[in-house]
Amino acid sequence: MTKVLNTVAEMKEITRKYKGQVGFVPTMGYLHQGHLSLVEAAKKNCDTTVVSIFVNPTQFAPNEDLETYPRNFERDLKFLEELQVDYVFYPTATEIYPKGYKTWVQVEEITQILCGASRPTHFKGVTTIICKLINIVKPDKMFMGEKDFQQLIVLQQMTRDLNFDVEVVGCPIVREADGLAMSSRNEYLSDQDRKRAVCLFQSLQRAQELAQNGQRDVEAIKTAMRRIIENNNGEIDYIEIVDSQTLQKKEKIDKNCRALVAVKYGKTRLIDNLKIC
Ligand code: AMP
Repeated sequence: MTKVLNTVAEMKEITRKYKGQVGFVPTMGYLHQGHLSLVEAAKKNCDTTVVSIFVNPTQFAPNEDLETYPRNFERDLKFLEELQVDYVFYPTATEIYPKGYKTWVQVEEITQILCGASRPTHFKGVTTIICKLINIVKPDKMFMGEKDFQQLIVLQQMTRDLNFDVEVVGCPIVREADGLAMSSRNEYLSDQDRKRAVCLFQSLQRAQELAQNGQRDVEAIKTAMRRIIENNNGEIDYIEIVDSQTLQKKEKIDKNCRALVAVKYGKTRLIDNLKIC
């Protein structure tokens, strides 16, 4: 039976009694198959599975979509019960950030590029909440999607730097039938923009095709990607080709290259990425 825990004290009570390996999947809810693939990975690899559902206010800037972020706890819980998740940690914002809260965890440099360039305070919120959740849930393995590739690298850096006893496991991106990466924010798209949004994946596939056919010029690849997105009315936040481990920009295509894109349709900001060689 899936047990829901709303307080830090209740969750910590459970962690004292863990037996075997504990797998953890942190989420902001409104679950889709992308999230559920992480739950399946945790179930497969661990003895106990914990999923958190918490729309973390500190990773949203004041002008972002905290208020409108989609939520449906009853539906989420049904999915998690079907997968026989052991524990769902579902705290309130004041449980996590009580009055007088003052502490932040920050990873430098790699949080200020890519998504961090247009969302400069975002990763500070992410690293702080994940740090807190790791301390509360005490997992052996934490399962995260490659969908948020920069987040994955930042959290691997944080857990390494702070000597956390947790392995951060990256899992593949789950896509809709047309290739759009699943995301809770896809919900916001109009029918027309939903159709156009497949251009993110198409631009990444084109980059992969060019790289695999021997194109070594990063700018030529980025130009081809830009054209595909602009033809679909997407407002480009960034298109980058970076090293998969360091996130540093590639000067030419060699090994470990990953293309990443962030594109806006109206107020909806979508991200995607693909290893291109
Ligand atoms: P979120 O609820 O957006 O904070 O996402 C929670 C976790 O699910 C993060 O590790 C995301 O990277 C992961 N995730 C979100 N969408 C996908 C997807 N389409 N495929 C795989 N993982 C995903």
